[in-house]
Amino acid sequence: MTDNTFPGFVVTKDRQGTVRGAVTQITEAELPDGEVLIRVAYSSLNYKDAMVTTGHPGIVREFPHVPGIDLAGSVVQSNSKDFATDELVLVTGYGLGSSQWGGWSGLVRVPSEWVVRLPDGLPLQEAMALGTAGFTAAQCVTSLQLHQVDANSGPVVVTGASGGVGSIAVAILAQLGYDVIAVTGKTDAHALLKKIGASKIIPRHEVADSSEKPLLESRWAGAVDTVGGKTLSTLVRSTGYRGCVTACGLVGGVDCALTVYPFLLRGVTLDGIDSASCPMPQRLELWERLAGPWRPERLSDLMTTIRLSQLNDKISQMLEGSVVGRSVVDLREK
Ligand code: NDP
Repeated sequence: MTDNTFPGFVVTKDRQGTVRGAVTQITEAELPDGEVLIRVAYSSLNYKDAMVTTGHPGIVREFPHVPGIDLAGSVVQSNSKDFATDELVLVTGYGLGSSQWGGWSGLVRVPSEWVVRLPDGLPLQEAMALGTAGFTAAQCVTSLQLHQVDANSGPVVVTGASGGVGSIAVAILAQLGYDVIAVTGKTDAHALLKKIGASKIIPRHEVADSSEKPLLESRWAGAVDTVGGKTLSTLVRSTGYRGCVTACGLVGGVDCALTVYPFLLRGVTLDGIDSASCPMPQRLELWERLAGPWRPERLSDLMTTIRLSQLNDKISQMLEGSVVGRSVVDLREK
């Protein structure tokens, strides 16, 4: 990296509407406005980033664009009294990588309100192994707790269990003593899911009921759903009395056919999870938990480290649903 140029993964759209991502040199002058300039050590790959690289109009409207909804690194320059040069920080969500250029870049400039001081004891690389996925998983677990679904309530089911959010949710829940049922489409991920604490593994089709039955047999006390669509509808209809379903994802679809019966007859709560705009006080609390008691003991088993040049391959795998765990992007100078 020189003073003025550094590598980044830039997504462009040509006149024919073809969207492509490639590693390109970026200049500091091209970066958006913001009070804090950060040298990125690590970023990560989330499903939202993969959608951005396809030109998804609901997330990004202007090209060229740099994706990356997560970053961890050190402050190079700060016009905010809250952050000093060389301080270690992380940013997840807000407009990072969506309304504003994101973390797949050697240097990033952001508003100071987005910046979180790296929690004590959490290495930069692990912060990104968690990233938005871990942060979202932690929000789902917090929601279950707030709705009195605890380790004694009965099993908790996690869908998309081998993916980023799913695998970290399995690991945190198991560590907190929950009985975790993992739903996965990958037979080759069973061993890993057992290793991180799943007590039972079931295939995706078992949680994809196509009937119009308003209620199904009660099977679990709580759920973390990263899939949406028919899966979410099945989960809500098969959650037990006073249970809670946290809905955070859409990899399987955005519609969700339901009647009001699960809510009226079983008192089921369907709780929506949004990580990007999570208010700062809760954000800081969640990061403290993730750095402390909720940090998955086997986080390294869930993490693959890649370079910017390997992103296109990983993105294709993610869009096919075949990625396991978390992909951390190493942006440190070689
Ligand atoms: P990943 O790609 O890492 O994980 C998704 C997993 O879902 C896959 O690994 C696969 O797991 C499963 N899956 C993929 N396709 C399908 C399908 N068609 N039907 C059923 N299951 C499928 O993504 P992330 O963990 O990064 O994100 C998961 C979801 O959560 C995404 O929709 C993302 O947008 C959303 N999300 C939302 C956030 C929020 O704030 N609300 C924040 C972060 C993520 P397996 O093979 O084990 O079944």
